[in-house]
Amino acid sequence: MGYNVAIDGPAGAGKSTISKVVAKKLKLIYVDTGAMYRAMALFMIREGVDKNDAEAVSVKCKEADITIGYENGEQVVYLNGDNVNAYLRTEEVGNMASVTSPNPAVREKLVELQKRLAAKRDVVMDGRDIGTVVLPNAQTKIYLTASSTVRAERRFNELAARGEECDIEKIKADIEERDYRDMHREISPLKQAEDAVEVDTSDMTVEQVVDRIIEICNSSRPL
Ligand code: C5P
Repeated sequence: MGYNVAIDGPAGAGKSTISKVVAKKLKLIYVDTGAMYRAMALFMIREGVDKNDAEAVSVKCKEADITIGYENGEQVVYLNGDNVNAYLRTEEVGNMASVTSPNPAVREKLVELQKRLAAKRDVVMDGRDIGTVVLPNAQTKIYLTASSTVRAERRFNELAARGEECDIEKIKADIEERDYRDMHREISPLKQAEDAVEVDTSDMTVEQVVDRIIEICNSSRPL
């Protein structure tokens, strides 16, 4: 088995920013599993599927062919052959993803893809269930967290920088609602794996978090 790093945590804890840098420094492939759930959500939105109709979501997800590739070092998600990266990072798609991701048919399909990717390459994979379900044997497991106030501020700054109108109180309420759904769903709820190291990023800079994670990787990576 190769070397795999599993990074889990709630929305806005900094998983993708940190995982990208860590992967680059350790010369590993970065796999953003949230983007796959977002691509599935985008498909459901485009197809006009009622997100609360679990049966319709289960049936429809079979028509979504989701794959990933890399262009200029960036992960690209293809939905039925088209690069959909540009449509994935909206609040609408993120909220839809947290409603459609608990669906067993959706999870089965995407977890299988994720396991296949990690079996072929050494990866830093981030998500909600990586250390617990997707890569239970990963040599390094991190649980990245931060207070909901700090996470809302980060999301607000990200959206504001893109010129999108947003209300910080609404973002915070959405984040807390999303946390609740992700942590209380029946299948693969977001929780810290027993052997994961928790890193609370609330009062840390990106550089400090990266250094801490590299330190954890160096102490757990097999020689
Ligand atoms: O991390 P990101 O915000 O892109 O994830 C969007 C949604 O996808 C999450 O709120 C969660 O419901 C779902 N997800 C998941 N399992 C993962 C990654 C993401 O259920 N491994």
